[in-house]
Amino acid sequence: MRLVLLGPPGAGKGTQAARLIARLGVPQLSTGDMLRAAVAARSPIGLEAKEIMDKGQLVSDAVVVGIIDDRTDAPDCAEGYILDGFPRTVAQAEALDAMLARKGQKLKAVIELVVDESALLDRMRKRVEETIRTGGTVRADDNPETFKIRLDAYRAMTAPVSAYYKASGALRQIDGMMSIDEVTAAIDKALEA
Ligand code: ADP
Repeated sequence: MRLVLLGPPGAGKGTQAARLIARLGVPQLSTGDMLRAAVAARSPIGLEAKEIMDKGQLVSDAVVVGIIDDRTDAPDCAEGYILDGFPRTVAQAEALDAMLARKGQKLKAVIELVVDESALLDRMRKRVEETIRTGGTVRADDNPETFKIRLDAYRAMTAPVSAYYKASGALRQIDGMMSIDEVTAAIDKALEA
């Protein structure tokens, strides 16, 4: 099953993706995680992406489309995958459609977590507190200033992706303000339909 998880930073995509992996037995492909791994490994892509990510801006469509095209060919993606953080622009959504058509594959659904913007900054702050409490490393882009830029990027570049999938009929909108378990249940229901 191939799924896309859509929603602003702090919407709960990562939390729900972790639950979906366990239930569906397919991997989560987070372009954010993959780019952070490239940065940590100091690969050419990582060196190019680091500054852009630290500023809260979007890495080029060509780079992330290339990453997803390669990664989805891996054997663990044979039964499907959950895309988290991709596509983030309409151009990426179009490239994904072209890639799927080329590979003779289809998306099962696009799950959008809809969340009040006013709640997002608070969720990011909690995530930072939790990371510090558990001795982890706080992301360079998880601070109020950069978070605001990430939200702006979301509004300008990613919100139109929702309209793109609404037009194609793939979009399933879920209220991301419910409890984590309620959101999980709503996603399950949307996938059954
Ligand atoms: P979040 O969803 O919490 O904003 P991610 O971990 O998905 O964060 O992404 C972190 C950063 O990685 C983004 O701000 C952006 O710079 C880069 N990035 C991730 N996915 C993409 C993408 N599909 N297109 C462009 N840039 C991306």
